[in-house]
Amino acid sequence: MIKLYNTLSREKEEFKPTKDKEVGIYACGPTVYFFAHIGNFRTYVFEDVLRRVLEFNGYAVKFVMNITDVGHLTDDADAGEDKMLLAMRREGKSAQEIAEFYTQAFMADVKKLNIKPADEYPRATDHIQEQIELIKKLEEKGFTYQTTDGVYFDTSKLPDYGRLSGQKSEEKEAGARVAMGEKKNPTDFALWKFSSESEQRLMEWESPWGKGFPGWHIECSAMSAKYLGIPFDIHLGGIDHVPVHHENEIAQTQAAEGKLLANYWVHSDFLTVDGGKMSKSLGNIYTISDLAAKGIDPLAFRYFCLGAHYRTKLNFTTESINAAQNALNNLRDAVRDWDSPSGGCAAYEQEFAAALDDDLNLPEALAVVWQMKDSASASSAKAASLLKFDQVLGLELDQYVAQPLAVPEDVKSLVKDRERAREEKDFERADQLREQIEKKGFTVDDQAAGSKINQKH
Ligand code: AMP
Ligand code: ZN
Repeated sequence: MIKLYNTLSREKEEFKPTKDKEVGIYACGPTVYFFAHIGNFRTYVFEDVLRRVLEFNGYAVKFVMNITDVGHLTDDADAGEDKMLLAMRREGKSAQEIAEFYTQAFMADVKKLNIKPADEYPRATDHIQEQIELIKKLEEKGFTYQTTDGVYFDTSKLPDYGRLSGQKSEEKEAGARVAMGEKKNPTDFALWKFSSESEQRLMEWESPWGKGFPGWHIECSAMSAKYLGIPFDIHLGGIDHVPVHHENEIAQTQAAEGKLLANYWVHSDFLTVDGGKMSKSLGNIYTISDLAAKGIDPLAFRYFCLGAHYRTKLNFTTESINAAQNALNNLRDAVRDWDSPSGGCAAYEQEFAAALDDDLNLPEALAVVWQMKDSASASSAKAASLLKFDQVLGLELDQYVAQPLAVPEDVKSLVKDRERAREEKDFERADQLREQIEKKGFTVDDQAAGSKINQKH
């Protein structure tokens, strides 16, 4: 039995899919006008782990992630500049070229992080018609009104608007500096925005209301329903999407179809950098490639993400990411000498599964990995269990378990020479030999059983 914290009920709930052993999952995907950063990838890694936990428990998962390739405005309040247009100006490329370039960059990072690809990656621009149809339904049911700049959703018409964040419209009004414009209520949001008359937009479509482009939230309601049916099982995203984006997805579908969009809403908390927000002005918005340039393996970033519960903040610092890289290196080194997998460690497997089932307690699951590694169990049994665990961890440990390091003969003979020097208490020579060994890409550890040769990391 898997328990998940459902933002909708604010409780850990037993997970019960709508279909027996099949689970439909939708996750809000990248906006492809720039590279996804490590904060985004914390969320995508969490989503991948959730998918893997369900598969580990025998569910067949259908995972859908949208690609937002329509230009949207730079803030949540339907104002600001269009991000796609900004990117086009910055890079001197067409909208399609920008979207294609950053989609490919995203896919490359997904692969490096060993995130399982989604079953579908629907693009917003391929589903304009579906979005228009949904807005038409909302219009027929009386949930919309027009202003001079677009078609808006009237949140006051939906009695339980705000159920996801638990915020009432009036509270938002008090708390936020929302640009009201011609909106009737502060929480109302754009379904369709009109192109401005003075400016030819490069991304615009015909609609029953006039030329323009869809609002930000409508694509997710339209595409998730198309690919998964409603209500589907689990809707995922980062915690920032709770008060506006996901609230509005729920409202649109509830109003148009009279149904809840998804039964479980699961959100991961933010990644912070040096204890604060990532921002352009601080120059601390890192990508996976930025980490690689600092010698951090993408899978070490994945390991780093597993080290914090998804509902707590994860603080990225030079020290914390280096610690993750070292831990992963140590694990890789340790498992190389294990015997070929056979059998398993039943007690550790039970503990591992129990940690996952308790709202994805990955830090606890990782602790089980380390306890098992250091235990006196047969290494063949540990190897078998670790490979099972890696179906969830996704650290590609199969490349290390029971795969002894190939040490070239010249390095072996340097190590022998060094052992002899140590016996003769010629420590100066022993140190020189260590340097030579390291130059060849290996390290040597003096252990009770003799010299242990590892890869130099
Ligand atoms: P966006 O492109 O802003 O829609 O973000 C894509 C995904 O990344 C969403 O699920 C966001 O909630 C999530 N996200 C954005 N910033 C962060 C962050 N600093 N830490 C964790 N997740 C984030
Ligand atoms: Zn979305």
